[in-house]
Amino acid sequence: MKPILQNLVEMTGHRDHLRLEVSVLSTLQSLSSIVQVRALEVFSRDEALCVRPRTWMENGQWHSAETDTASDPASQSIDQIPALQTCIQGRSPHAIATLGKGRYCMWLPLWMHDKVTSCLEIVQSRPFSAQKIDVITHVFHVYKNYQSLLDYSERDALTGLFNRKTFDEQFSRFTSPEQNERPQPLATGLDEGESAGDAAHQWLAVVDIDHFKQVNDRFGHLYGDEVLILVANILRSSFRSHDKIFRFGGEEFVVLLRSTSLSTAHKVFNRFRKNVEDYYFPQVGQVTVSVGFVSTAHGSPVEILGQADQALYFAKENGRNQVRYYDDLVAEGHLQAKVSNDDVELF
Ligand code: GH3
Ligand code: MG
Ligand code: MG
Repeated sequence: MKPILQNLVEMTGHRDHLRLEVSVLSTLQSLSSIVQVRALEVFSRDEALCVRPRTWMENGQWHSAETDTASDPASQSIDQIPALQTCIQGRSPHAIATLGKGRYCMWLPLWMHDKVTSCLEIVQSRPFSAQKIDVITHVFHVYKNYQSLLDYSERDALTGLFNRKTFDEQFSRFTSPEQNERPQPLATGLDEGESAGDAAHQWLAVVDIDHFKQVNDRFGHLYGDEVLILVANILRSSFRSHDKIFRFGGEEFVVLLRSTSLSTAHKVFNRFRKNVEDYYFPQVGQVTVSVGFVSTAHGSPVEILGQADQALYFAKENGRNQVRYYDDLVAEGHLQAKVSNDDVELF
């Protein structure tokens, strides 16, 4: 068993949420009498809180639902775990319950921006002593502080969405490994090369606010900023927690949609476009967005982004307030598919 301080040094050496999570789980796992440690994702579905395993150990290897899209762990409603439910409702730092004979469980919810986003679950073979609780909560606090520092550096200050830098870092991981250099496995045993899942069912959309310059010109920059914040909120509420949303530039956003069919992708992007169209923006009134999207299955990250951009420009040129799919535009002869250029430098 590594001394706990050494584990903490290792934990705070990571610049990536998943590696940090695996590291804290390894640290907790190395404490005595621990049977199992997992990180659970906490999310809302139909107004109710649910949990599902996000990172766990299986046959001596760490697995994560974040990167291993083939594993789709079942979720359960939080009211099936009354101790955790009471803990979250009362904003208590942790909850402890007896699971059955010889199994005791401790949950530590992680609060970010006034929301519980995840929770650590520790099962051990005997009751938690006061000293053990003390060690666990201190390790958890180091983890929590470090998570929020990481989170801060990854986000855009105005909208709270992921920033461009984070997109650049995450996008090559999101696209399929055959087209990109296979990343090095995590030192912890989690293989990021397995991260891509079925790339044919991942989609990238570029979203751009229509005539946004006019909003600034007519109402001023502060109202322009408010429109950006409100569009970011509509983006957050229009997509699932597994999808990733980035503020890409001034009034441009990128959405990475995971594991869905083409028809659902059409539906989901159009529902978002309609949500913006139907929203009343204070003072400004109606705002619309144009969207271009493409599958992430073929091409380098630069090519994929370029294709979504071409579809977006087509939407702009042809009336705005619409969603366009790159492959349809190529099939209809509106756009010409570019020949892949292997010499393109990525980001
Ligand atoms: P189009 O429909 O073709 O996209 O037209 P547009 O006016 O939206 O596009 P254009 O690129 O001409 O203008 C984008 C404007 O976005 C210009 C810039 O001043 C404004 N902008 C960029 N970042 C910010 C920001 O952080 N806050 C505010 N208020 N405005 C911004
Ligand atoms: Mg615009
Ligand atoms: Mg723009």
